[in-house]
Amino acid sequence: MTRLPRRKLRIPPGGIPVSSAARRLVRDPVCGMHVDETLSIPLREGGELLHFCSPACRDAYAASTRKFAANG
Ligand SMILES: [Zn+2]
Repeated sequence: MTRLPRRKLRIPPGGIPVSSAARRLVRDPVCGMHVDETLSIPLREGGELLHFCSPACRDAYAASTRKFAANG
């Protein structure tokens, strides 16, 4: 039986290996998906920084808050 060498580190092609501990996951308040903070779409809302998985979710959130603001 041949023994294959074990790879301890998985480096993505052209990418920098990042340990899972260094990554910060944030939750999209619209769809509930967890997204990498560095890849998320940010939106500052009332002094709070929110993160979204896509511009579509951000727009959906912005539209809903605008609706509430218009009523008040
Ligand atoms: Zn989303």
